[in-house]
Amino acid sequence: MKIHEYQAKEIFKKYGLPVPLGIVAHSAQEAKQAAEELGTPIVVVKAQVHAGGRGKAGGVKLAKSPEEAAEIAAQMIGNRLKTYQNPEGLPINVVLIEAGVNIDKEFYVGMTLDREVSRPVLMVSAAGGMEIEEIAKTNPELIIKEHVDPVTGLMPFQARKIAFKIGLTDKKVISQFVKLAMTLSKMYFDLDASLIEVNPLVLTKEGDLICLDAKIDFDDNALFRHKDILELEDTTQIDPLELEAKKWDLNYVKLDGNIGCMVNGAGLAMATMDTIKFYGGEPANFLDVGGGATVERVAAAFKLLLSDENVKAIFVNIFGGIVRCDRIAGGIVEAAKQVELDRPLIVRLEGTNVELGRKMLEESGLNIIPAKDMADGAQKAVKAAKGEL
Ligand code: ADP
Ligand code: MG
Repeated sequence: MKIHEYQAKEIFKKYGLPVPLGIVAHSAQEAKQAAEELGTPIVVVKAQVHAGGRGKAGGVKLAKSPEEAAEIAAQMIGNRLKTYQNPEGLPINVVLIEAGVNIDKEFYVGMTLDREVSRPVLMVSAAGGMEIEEIAKTNPELIIKEHVDPVTGLMPFQARKIAFKIGLTDKKVISQFVKLAMTLSKMYFDLDASLIEVNPLVLTKEGDLICLDAKIDFDDNALFRHKDILELEDTTQIDPLELEAKKWDLNYVKLDGNIGCMVNGAGLAMATMDTIKFYGGEPANFLDVGGGATVERVAAAFKLLLSDENVKAIFVNIFGGIVRCDRIAGGIVEAAKQVELDRPLIVRLEGTNVELGRKMLEESGLNIIPAKDMADGAQKAVKAAKGEL
Protein backbone atom coordinates (compact mmCIF):
# COMPACT_ATOMS: atom_id res chain seq x y z
CA MET A 1 0.00 0.00 0.00
CA LYS A 2 1.15 3.49 -0.83
CA ILE A 3 0.47 6.74 1.02
CA HIS A 4 0.93 10.40 0.12
CA GLU A 5 4.02 12.46 0.85
CA TYR A 6 2.17 14.58 3.43
CA GLN A 7 1.03 11.44 5.26
CA ALA A 8 4.54 9.99 5.21
CA LYS A 9 5.88 13.29 6.58
CA GLU A 10 3.38 13.14 9.46
CA ILE A 11 4.81 9.72 10.35
CA PHE A 12 8.37 11.05 9.94
CA LYS A 13 7.51 13.83 12.42
CA LYS A 14 6.18 11.34 14.96
CA TYR A 15 9.56 9.60 14.80
CA GLY A 16 11.34 12.90 15.33
CA LEU A 17 12.72 13.21 11.80
CA PRO A 18 13.21 16.73 10.43
CA VAL A 19 10.73 17.74 7.68
CA PRO A 20 9.89 21.22 6.37
CA LEU A 21 6.91 23.05 7.85
CA GLY A 22 3.89 22.24 5.72
CA ILE A 23 0.12 22.55 5.56
CA VAL A 24 -2.29 20.50 3.45
CA ALA A 25 -4.74 22.35 1.16
CA HIS A 26 -7.81 21.11 -0.72
CA SER A 27 -8.57 24.35 -2.59
CA ALA A 28 -6.90 27.51 -3.87
CA GLN A 29 -8.34 29.41 -0.91
CA GLU A 30 -6.85 26.95 1.58
CA ALA A 31 -3.54 27.13 -0.29
CA LYS A 32 -3.46 30.92 0.09
CA GLN A 33 -4.24 30.68 3.79
CA ALA A 34 -1.58 28.02 4.27
CA ALA A 35 1.07 30.14 2.55
CA GLU A 36 0.11 33.13 4.71
CA GLU A 37 0.33 31.03 7.83
CA LEU A 38 3.75 29.67 6.88
CA GLY A 39 4.87 33.24 6.21
CA THR A 40 8.11 32.28 4.42
CA PRO A 41 9.25 34.34 1.40
CA ILE A 42 8.97 31.24 -0.77
CA VAL A 43 6.56 28.36 -0.45
CA VAL A 44 6.49 25.20 -2.49
CA VAL A 45 3.19 23.83 -3.83
CA LYS A 46 3.38 20.05 -4.11
CA ALA A 47 0.77 17.87 -5.84
CA GLN A 48 -0.11 14.88 -3.69
CA VAL A 49 -0.30 11.84 -5.97
CA HIS A 50 1.00 8.30 -5.61
CA ALA A 51 3.91 8.75 -7.99
CA GLY A 52 7.45 10.03 -7.93
CA GLY A 53 9.04 12.34 -10.47
CA ARG A 54 6.45 15.05 -9.74
CA GLY A 55 9.05 17.80 -9.93
CA LYS A 56 9.87 17.12 -13.58
CA ALA A 57 6.18 16.69 -14.40
CA GLY A 58 5.18 20.11 -13.07
CA GLY A 59 3.77 18.81 -9.80
CA VAL A 60 6.20 20.73 -7.56
CA LYS A 61 6.27 24.51 -8.00
CA LEU A 62 7.72 27.48 -6.16
CA ALA A 63 5.47 30.41 -5.24
CA LYS A 64 6.75 33.81 -4.14
CA SER A 65 3.47 34.98 -2.61
CA PRO A 66 0.28 33.51 -1.12
CA GLU A 67 -1.59 34.70 -4.25
CA GLU A 68 0.82 32.81 -6.50
CA ALA A 69 0.46 29.72 -4.29
CA ALA A 70 -3.32 29.96 -4.74
CA GLU A 71 -2.95 30.27 -8.53
CA ILE A 72 -0.71 27.22 -8.74
CA ALA A 73 -3.00 25.22 -6.45
CA ALA A 74 -6.00 26.17 -8.62
CA GLN A 75 -4.20 24.80 -11.68
CA MET A 76 -3.27 21.57 -9.93
CA ILE A 77 -6.36 20.61 -7.94
CA GLY A 78 -8.93 18.77 -10.03
CA ASN A 79 -6.42 17.93 -12.75
CA ARG A 80 -4.34 14.83 -13.34
CA LEU A 81 -0.57 14.68 -13.01
CA LYS A 82 1.18 12.57 -15.62
CA THR A 83 4.62 11.35 -14.60
CA TYR A 84 7.14 8.96 -16.11
CA GLN A 85 6.03 6.44 -13.48
CA ASN A 86 2.36 6.85 -14.37
CA PRO A 87 1.76 7.99 -17.98
CA GLU A 88 -2.04 7.85 -17.61
CA GLY A 89 -1.84 10.34 -14.79
CA LEU A 90 -3.27 10.42 -11.28
CA PRO A 91 -5.91 12.82 -9.94
CA ILE A 92 -4.70 15.70 -7.76
CA ASN A 93 -7.17 16.30 -4.93
CA VAL A 94 -4.78 17.67 -2.33
CA VAL A 95 -1.65 19.82 -2.41
CA LEU A 96 0.97 20.28 0.26
CA ILE A 97 2.05 23.87 0.86
CA GLU A 98 5.53 23.77 2.27
CA ALA A 99 8.07 26.29 3.51
CA GLY A 100 10.81 26.81 0.91
CA VAL A 101 14.11 25.35 2.04
CA ASN A 102 17.56 26.75 1.14
CA ILE A 103 19.18 23.77 -0.49
CA ASP A 104 22.94 23.39 -0.41
CA LYS A 105 23.24 19.69 -1.30
CA GLU A 106 20.83 16.86 -2.14
CA PHE A 107 21.22 13.20 -1.14
CA TYR A 108 19.26 10.03 -1.79
CA VAL A 109 18.38 7.73 1.12
CA GLY A 110 16.28 4.61 0.75
CA MET A 111 15.63 1.40 2.61
CA THR A 112 14.07 -1.65 1.03
CA LEU A 113 14.42 -5.41 0.78
CA ASP A 114 17.38 -6.73 -1.19
CA ARG A 115 15.89 -9.97 -2.50
CA GLU A 116 19.25 -11.19 -3.76
CA VAL A 117 20.67 -11.47 -0.24
CA SER A 118 17.31 -11.80 1.57
CA ARG A 119 18.02 -8.79 3.77
CA PRO A 120 16.90 -5.20 4.05
CA VAL A 121 19.36 -2.75 2.58
CA LEU A 122 19.99 0.91 3.28
CA MET A 123 21.04 2.73 0.13
CA VAL A 124 22.49 6.21 0.17
CA SER A 125 23.86 8.37 -2.59
CA ALA A 126 25.41 11.79 -2.76
CA ALA A 127 24.01 12.05 -6.29
CA GLY A 128 20.66 13.15 -4.87
CA GLY A 129 17.90 14.82 -6.82
CA MET A 130 18.39 12.33 -9.65
CA GLU A 131 16.10 9.31 -9.96
CA ILE A 132 17.74 6.41 -8.20
CA GLU A 133 16.89 4.04 -11.08
CA GLU A 134 18.91 6.34 -13.35
CA ILE A 135 21.94 6.40 -11.00
CA ALA A 136 21.73 2.60 -10.64
CA LYS A 137 21.94 2.30 -14.43
CA THR A 138 24.61 4.87 -15.22
CA ASN A 139 26.73 5.17 -12.03
CA PRO A 140 25.99 2.22 -9.72
CA GLU A 141 29.23 2.93 -7.79
CA LEU A 142 27.66 6.15 -6.50
CA ILE A 143 25.14 4.17 -4.47
CA ILE A 144 26.47 3.14 -1.07
CA LYS A 145 24.78 0.04 0.36
CA GLU A 146 24.67 -1.37 3.87
CA HIS A 147 22.71 -4.54 4.52
CA VAL A 148 20.75 -4.54 7.73
CA ASP A 149 20.48 -7.47 10.11
CA PRO A 150 16.77 -7.74 10.96
CA VAL A 151 17.64 -8.87 14.50
CA THR A 152 19.67 -5.77 15.41
CA GLY A 153 18.43 -3.21 12.91
CA LEU A 154 20.95 -0.78 11.43
CA MET A 155 24.02 -0.42 13.66
CA PRO A 156 25.47 3.03 14.46
CA PHE A 157 28.84 2.09 12.95
CA GLN A 158 27.13 1.30 9.65
CA ALA A 159 25.42 4.69 9.62
CA ARG A 160 28.74 6.43 10.37
CA LYS A 161 30.47 4.48 7.62
CA ILE A 162 27.90 5.72 5.13
CA ALA A 163 28.17 9.30 6.41
CA PHE A 164 31.91 9.29 5.68
CA LYS A 165 31.47 7.64 2.30
CA ILE A 166 29.03 10.29 1.10
CA GLY A 167 31.52 12.96 2.11
CA LEU A 168 29.98 14.43 5.25
CA THR A 169 32.68 16.07 7.38
CA ASP A 170 30.89 18.38 9.79
CA LYS A 171 30.48 16.66 13.19
CA LYS A 172 26.98 18.02 13.77
CA VAL A 173 25.80 16.92 10.33
CA ILE A 174 27.33 13.46 10.75
CA SER A 175 25.51 12.99 14.03
CA GLN A 176 22.24 14.21 12.44
CA PHE A 177 22.74 11.72 9.62
CA VAL A 178 23.42 8.80 11.98
CA LYS A 179 20.28 9.56 13.96
CA LEU A 180 18.26 9.85 10.77
CA ALA A 181 19.53 6.58 9.30
CA MET A 182 18.92 4.71 12.56
CA THR A 183 15.40 6.10 12.76
CA LEU A 184 14.59 5.16 9.17
CA SER A 185 15.74 1.61 9.89
CA LYS A 186 13.59 1.48 13.04
CA MET A 187 10.59 2.78 11.08
CA TYR A 188 11.13 0.21 8.34
CA PHE A 189 10.75 -2.64 10.83
CA ASP A 190 8.14 -1.02 13.14
CA LEU A 191 5.81 -0.21 10.27
CA ASP A 192 6.41 -3.33 8.14
CA ALA A 193 7.39 -1.05 5.29
CA SER A 194 8.50 -2.43 1.97
CA LEU A 195 10.19 0.84 1.01
CA ILE A 196 11.11 4.05 2.77
CA GLU A 197 12.64 6.72 0.59
CA VAL A 198 13.90 10.23 1.21
CA ASN A 199 14.76 11.73 -2.16
CA PRO A 200 16.11 14.24 -1.65
CA LEU A 201 17.48 14.43 1.85
CA VAL A 202 18.98 17.91 1.82
CA LEU A 203 21.73 19.74 3.60
CA THR A 204 20.47 23.28 4.02
CA LYS A 205 22.61 26.40 3.60
CA GLU A 206 22.14 26.79 7.36
CA GLY A 207 23.94 23.43 7.81
CA ASP A 208 21.11 21.08 8.81
CA LEU A 209 19.78 17.88 7.30
CA ILE A 210 16.10 17.86 6.39
CA CYS A 211 13.84 15.35 4.61
CA LEU A 212 12.48 17.28 1.64
CA ASP A 213 10.54 14.39 0.17
CA ALA A 214 9.17 11.33 1.96
CA LYS A 215 7.82 8.07 0.68
CA ILE A 216 6.66 4.99 2.57
CA ASP A 217 5.25 1.86 0.92
CA PHE A 218 3.81 -0.80 3.20
CA ASP A 219 3.82 -4.57 2.93
CA ASP A 220 0.15 -5.42 2.27
CA ASN A 221 0.52 -8.76 4.01
CA ALA A 222 1.30 -7.03 7.32
CA LEU A 223 -1.37 -4.34 7.18
CA PHE A 224 -3.72 -6.34 9.40
CA ARG A 225 -1.55 -5.31 12.33
CA HIS A 226 -1.46 -1.61 11.38
CA LYS A 227 -5.09 -0.51 11.45
CA ASP A 228 -4.06 3.16 11.76
CA ILE A 229 -2.03 2.93 8.55
CA LEU A 230 -4.87 1.23 6.67
CA GLU A 231 -6.95 4.33 7.31
CA LEU A 232 -4.46 6.41 5.32
CA GLU A 233 -5.32 4.63 2.06
CA ASP A 234 -6.48 6.99 -0.72
CA THR A 235 -8.45 4.89 -3.19
CA THR A 236 -8.61 7.71 -5.76
CA GLN A 237 -4.98 6.88 -6.54
CA ILE A 238 -5.57 3.22 -7.33
CA ASP A 239 -6.51 1.77 -10.75
CA PRO A 240 -10.30 1.08 -10.51
CA LEU A 241 -9.89 -2.48 -11.76
CA GLU A 242 -7.18 -3.23 -9.21
CA LEU A 243 -9.38 -1.71 -6.51
CA GLU A 244 -12.30 -3.94 -7.46
CA ALA A 245 -9.96 -6.96 -7.42
CA LYS A 246 -8.75 -6.02 -3.96
CA LYS A 247 -12.31 -5.89 -2.69
CA TRP A 248 -12.70 -9.54 -3.70
CA ASP A 249 -9.27 -10.52 -2.47
CA LEU A 250 -8.12 -11.42 -5.98
CA ASN A 251 -4.50 -11.09 -7.01
CA TYR A 252 -4.88 -8.94 -10.10
CA VAL A 253 -2.29 -6.91 -11.96
CA LYS A 254 -3.27 -5.06 -15.12
CA LEU A 255 -0.88 -5.44 -18.07
CA ASP A 256 -0.69 -4.02 -21.59
CA GLY A 257 -1.83 -6.98 -23.70
CA ASN A 258 -5.24 -8.13 -24.96
CA ILE A 259 -5.70 -11.68 -23.65
CA GLY A 260 -7.50 -11.75 -20.32
CA CYS A 261 -6.29 -14.59 -18.12
CA MET A 262 -8.10 -16.25 -15.25
CA VAL A 263 -5.97 -18.81 -13.48
CA ASN A 264 -5.75 -20.44 -10.08
CA GLY A 265 -2.38 -20.28 -8.35
CA ALA A 266 0.37 -17.72 -8.90
CA GLY A 267 2.73 -20.29 -10.44
CA LEU A 268 0.22 -21.46 -13.01
CA ALA A 269 -0.72 -17.83 -13.69
CA MET A 270 2.92 -17.01 -14.48
CA ALA A 271 3.26 -20.11 -16.63
CA THR A 272 0.06 -19.22 -18.48
CA MET A 273 1.37 -15.76 -19.29
CA ASP A 274 4.65 -17.28 -20.49
CA THR A 275 2.79 -19.74 -22.70
CA ILE A 276 0.65 -17.00 -24.22
CA LYS A 277 3.78 -14.99 -24.97
CA PHE A 278 5.49 -18.09 -26.37
CA TYR A 279 2.70 -18.38 -28.95
CA GLY A 280 2.99 -14.71 -29.88
CA GLY A 281 0.26 -13.20 -27.70
CA GLU A 282 0.25 -10.60 -24.94
CA PRO A 283 -1.55 -11.13 -21.63
CA ALA A 284 -3.87 -8.31 -20.53
CA ASN A 285 -3.45 -9.17 -16.89
CA PHE A 286 -2.16 -11.42 -14.21
CA LEU A 287 -5.07 -12.87 -12.27
CA ASP A 288 -4.86 -15.51 -9.61
CA VAL A 289 -8.28 -16.43 -8.25
CA GLY A 290 -6.58 -18.44 -5.53
CA GLY A 291 -7.32 -21.79 -4.00
CA GLY A 292 -10.41 -20.96 -1.99
CA ALA A 293 -12.37 -19.51 -4.90
CA THR A 294 -16.13 -19.35 -4.41
CA VAL A 295 -18.68 -18.94 -7.19
CA GLU A 296 -19.09 -15.25 -6.22
CA ARG A 297 -15.36 -14.54 -6.36
CA VAL A 298 -14.96 -16.27 -9.71
CA ALA A 299 -17.93 -14.30 -11.04
CA ALA A 300 -16.33 -11.05 -9.77
CA ALA A 301 -13.03 -12.00 -11.39
CA PHE A 302 -14.76 -12.76 -14.66
CA LYS A 303 -16.62 -9.47 -14.70
CA LEU A 304 -13.35 -7.70 -13.97
CA LEU A 305 -11.79 -9.23 -17.10
CA LEU A 306 -14.78 -8.25 -19.22
CA SER A 307 -14.71 -4.67 -17.94
CA ASP A 308 -11.23 -4.19 -19.42
CA GLU A 309 -11.82 -2.84 -22.92
CA ASN A 310 -8.41 -3.99 -24.11
CA VAL A 311 -9.36 -7.62 -23.58
CA LYS A 312 -10.13 -9.27 -26.91
CA ALA A 313 -10.25 -12.88 -25.72
CA ILE A 314 -10.35 -14.64 -22.37
CA PHE A 315 -8.34 -17.69 -21.43
CA VAL A 316 -9.49 -19.55 -18.32
CA ASN A 317 -6.80 -21.99 -17.26
CA ILE A 318 -7.68 -23.96 -14.16
CA PHE A 319 -6.01 -26.87 -12.50
CA GLY A 320 -8.48 -27.98 -9.88
CA GLY A 321 -6.38 -29.03 -6.93
CA ILE A 322 -7.80 -27.17 -3.98
CA VAL A 323 -10.30 -25.20 -6.04
CA ARG A 324 -12.87 -27.44 -7.64
CA CYS A 325 -13.62 -27.22 -11.37
CA ASP A 326 -17.39 -27.12 -10.78
CA ARG A 327 -16.98 -23.93 -8.69
CA ILE A 328 -15.05 -22.27 -11.48
CA ALA A 329 -17.69 -23.36 -14.01
CA GLY A 330 -20.40 -22.10 -11.65
CA GLY A 331 -18.67 -18.72 -11.37
CA ILE A 332 -18.38 -18.36 -15.14
CA VAL A 333 -22.04 -19.27 -15.67
CA GLU A 334 -23.08 -16.87 -12.89
CA ALA A 335 -21.01 -14.02 -14.33
CA ALA A 336 -22.42 -14.64 -17.82
CA LYS A 337 -25.91 -14.16 -16.41
CA GLN A 338 -24.95 -10.72 -15.08
CA VAL A 339 -22.81 -9.39 -17.91
CA GLU A 340 -22.87 -10.19 -21.57
CA LEU A 341 -20.10 -12.53 -22.65
CA ASP A 342 -19.24 -10.66 -25.84
CA ARG A 343 -15.73 -11.98 -26.44
CA PRO A 344 -14.31 -15.42 -27.23
CA LEU A 345 -13.83 -17.55 -24.15
CA ILE A 346 -11.32 -20.38 -24.13
CA VAL A 347 -11.48 -22.74 -21.20
CA ARG A 348 -9.09 -25.40 -20.07
CA LEU A 349 -10.25 -27.28 -16.98
CA GLU A 350 -8.40 -30.14 -15.34
CA GLY A 351 -8.46 -31.79 -11.93
CA THR A 352 -11.03 -32.21 -9.18
CA ASN A 353 -14.62 -32.49 -10.43
CA VAL A 354 -13.53 -31.74 -13.98
CA GLU A 355 -16.31 -33.81 -15.56
CA LEU A 356 -18.97 -31.97 -13.60
CA GLY A 357 -17.38 -28.61 -14.44
CA ARG A 358 -17.27 -29.38 -18.18
CA LYS A 359 -20.86 -30.59 -18.10
CA MET A 360 -22.02 -27.37 -16.42
CA LEU A 361 -20.31 -25.27 -19.06
CA GLU A 362 -21.73 -27.38 -21.89
CA GLU A 363 -25.25 -27.18 -20.52
CA SER A 364 -25.01 -23.44 -19.94
CA GLY A 365 -25.38 -22.77 -23.64
CA LEU A 366 -22.46 -20.34 -23.46
CA ASN A 367 -20.26 -20.10 -26.50
CA ILE A 368 -17.14 -21.64 -25.02
CA ILE A 369 -14.11 -22.86 -26.90
CA PRO A 370 -12.76 -25.87 -25.00
CA ALA A 371 -9.01 -26.49 -24.88
CA LYS A 372 -7.53 -29.91 -24.34
CA ASP A 373 -4.41 -28.62 -22.57
CA MET A 374 -2.55 -25.45 -21.71
CA ALA A 375 -0.63 -25.13 -24.97
CA ASP A 376 -3.79 -25.74 -26.99
CA GLY A 377 -5.65 -23.13 -24.91
CA ALA A 378 -2.91 -20.53 -25.25
CA GLN A 379 -2.74 -20.99 -29.04
CA LYS A 380 -6.50 -20.69 -29.35
CA ALA A 381 -6.51 -17.57 -27.17
CA VAL A 382 -3.79 -15.95 -29.30
CA LYS A 383 -5.76 -16.70 -32.47
CA ALA A 384 -9.03 -15.54 -30.95
CA ALA A 385 -7.49 -12.24 -29.82
CA LYS A 386 -6.36 -11.64 -33.43
CA GLY A 387 -9.90 -12.40 -34.63
CA GLU A 388 -8.70 -15.52 -36.43
CA LEU A 389 -10.79 -18.05 -34.55
P1 ADP B 1 9.40 14.34 -6.73
O1 ADP B 1 10.40 13.38 -6.20
O2 ADP B 1 8.05 13.73 -6.88
O3 ADP B 1 9.85 15.03 -7.96
P2 ADP B 1 10.19 16.12 -4.53
O4 ADP B 1 9.45 16.30 -3.27
O5 ADP B 1 11.43 15.31 -4.46
O6 ADP B 1 9.18 15.50 -5.61
O7 ADP B 1 10.51 17.54 -5.13
C1 ADP B 1 11.24 17.75 -6.32
C2 ADP B 1 12.28 18.82 -6.12
O8 ADP B 1 11.67 20.04 -5.72
C3 ADP B 1 13.27 18.50 -5.02
O9 ADP B 1 14.36 17.73 -5.49
C4 ADP B 1 13.71 19.89 -4.56
O10 ADP B 1 14.75 20.35 -5.38
C5 ADP B 1 12.47 20.73 -4.79
N1 ADP B 1 11.71 20.90 -3.52
C6 ADP B 1 10.77 20.10 -3.00
N2 ADP B 1 10.31 20.53 -1.81
C7 ADP B 1 10.96 21.69 -1.55
C8 ADP B 1 10.98 22.65 -0.46
N3 ADP B 1 10.16 22.51 0.60
N4 ADP B 1 11.81 23.70 -0.55
C9 ADP B 1 12.63 23.85 -1.62
N5 ADP B 1 12.69 23.01 -2.66
C10 ADP B 1 11.89 21.93 -2.64
MG1 MG C 1 11.49 13.17 -4.64
